[in-house]
Amino acid sequence: MSRQQPSGHEECRYPLQDGDWVVMDGHQKGRVLLVDDEPLIQKLISTLLVSAGYVVQTAVDGLDGLGKLRAELPDLIISDLNMDRMSGREFLDVVRKRFPQIPVIVTTAEFANEMPSGVTADAYYYKGGLPLQPLLETISELTNKPPLRTGLPLIDNGPAQAKWDGDGQYLIECKDCLRVFSFPHTPDVVRDEKWTICIHCGNLVRFLMAAQVERV
Ligand SMILES: [Zn+2]
Repeated sequence: MSRQQPSGHEECRYPLQDGDWVVMDGHQKGRVLLVDDEPLIQKLISTLLVSAGYVVQTAVDGLDGLGKLRAELPDLIISDLNMDRMSGREFLDVVRKRFPQIPVIVTTAEFANEMPSGVTADAYYYKGGLPLQPLLETISELTNKPPLRTGLPLIDNGPAQAKWDGDGQYLIECKDCLRVFSFPHTPDVVRDEKWTICIHCGNLVRFLMAAQVERV
């Protein structure tokens, strides 16, 4: 693509190595979060989207993607399915529960004519296929139509409820990555909300102990 210089007050930030938003000019069509662990694919698709007028942020896997969603919600997500730490399937599942309004396109490097089974994304794109024009058309279609899902998120913003596992530990589901981790029981932990760090995604988790929840 040609890298045109913007004029006037229009913003231009490039390249996209650190996952920052990339703004090519002042004519933005929407914000896209691109989650892919393959640098070349990430750069190829990002460059295409930026040249088409989208603002792009990149992430290397599902956990990194969730971290990016803490700062700002995009208009659309494109996610690879096969990634370490958190796969595209798990990431899609979390996004559906927390941000059902955001359309998601999944991509794979393995050839398939249709959406892989068990995946509930809004569209599917075979990366090895190229050309990229169909991907642009799908993005435009999904970002221009009314929201596909208007229901409320399945995950609320209240404190997580730690559940006693009967064996010296409390189990807490992180409200950010929706994974469960254990928290050791200590006698002084009985009242008030507590805070701990999710061992999976590093999110600060607010929680109540089960005994306290029952007394409220
Ligand atoms: Zn977490």
